Amino acid sequence: MKRGIALAGAVCLVVVLLAMAISRLGRVIEPVISPVYDAAAAPVILDAGHGGEDGGAVSVTGVPESQLNLEIVQKLRDILALCGTDPVLLREEDISLHDQSASTLREKKRSDLQNRVAAVESMEGATLISIHQNTYPSSQYHGAQVFYAPTEGSQALAEHFQSVLREQLQPDNGRAAKQIPDSVYLMNHITCPAILVECGFLTNPGEEAKLRDPGYQRQLAAVLAGAWLTGQEKADLQPAENLLQ
Ligand SMILES: [Zn+2]
Repeated sequence: MKRGIALAGAVCLVVVLLAMAISRLGRVIEPVISPVYDAAAAPVILDAGHGGEDGGAVSVTGVPESQLNLEIVQKLRDILALCGTDPVLLREEDISLHDQSASTLREKKRSDLQNRVAAVESMEGATLISIHQNTYPSSQYHGAQVFYAPTEGSQALAEHFQSVLREQLQPDNGRAAKQIPDSVYLMNHITCPAILVECGFLTNPGEEAKLRDPGYQRQLAAVLAGAWLTGQEKADLQPAENLLQ
């Protein structure tokens, strides 16, 4: 059984790496050799940022960030599910996760974040991937950036995601992984490894158009899935030969 899962994992990784390679249109496709690990043993939680009354940032064409976050998370879930990983989604629709007792927008937002923390904390051995979109007062900035929580394993994971995004999707992206600011509640109240991916800038018209495009969302999701499958805690990586015993 374990061997079956390992083999399925290996096959799936090849599929994702191929998808990542194909996504690099117009560039030389190089063989990707990476260790394989049992993804099913490492639960991943996908958080589509914001939702419901809290739409988050608004794009230059008026699309709420919460909608784009969810569309990308759903595609990421589907790709990971094909690989035998069963991600947990904190929300699967356009809702806020606040308690009924919360009445003002501020109370709802606070309650929503507390409930997200409680959900993450209830899952042992999990890793959190939170999906958001960036904004800036000036329209010129673009490119994905990965932030990490101040918890063990988060920085290495964020650096891996940032480099995979650069290699597979945005070769000109010179951004570095960074620690999340203190002001981001969820990322500062969980205790597991956690990263937050700012997929791009909703204030840059070119990037905003891409982020709304289902094809680009799929490409981005494939790259994120590949990053997860190749880079989750290095200590857990198993040599491929062990998987084939
Ligand atoms: Zn956000």
